[in-house]
Amino acid sequence: MEQRKYGCICELNPETGNPVVADYYMCPVHKPNDSLPGMFRKKPVMVEAVLFTDENKDRVYSWAKDIQNNVYHSFDDKNQPILLVPTLEGEMVCAIGDFLIKEPFPIDWRKLYPCKPDIFSKTYERA
Ligand SMILES: [Zn+2]
Repeated sequence: MEQRKYGCICELNPETGNPVVADYYMCPVHKPNDSLPGMFRKKPVMVEAVLFTDENKDRVYSWAKDIQNNVYHSFDDKNQPILLVPTLEGEMVCAIGDFLIKEPFPIDWRKLYPCKPDIFSKTYERA
């Protein structure tokens, strides 16, 4: 059987820039003969996150500002402190009790995002 040694661009070694999988046909994601939808599970990705509280609001703000410098602080209509995270789709609000997550695959305009605590618990566990 002919072996084609393309490597797969879907997973590059960040240090060398070369494909981690040497043979495209061996790639666990890209099986060229699979034409039907199949089941995929998200790989675990480590994220840095913090619960935004009244007690740590200043520290969280400076942590966030270092990551994404257009983040700013304000108050909601109940005069509770909030952080505002501008994105191309509008401003995201991080309220007291929300988690603020450092984007694991950051792009220019998105380096942080807030997450409601119930969604956070369903999606993440402590590493
Ligand atoms: Zn691949």
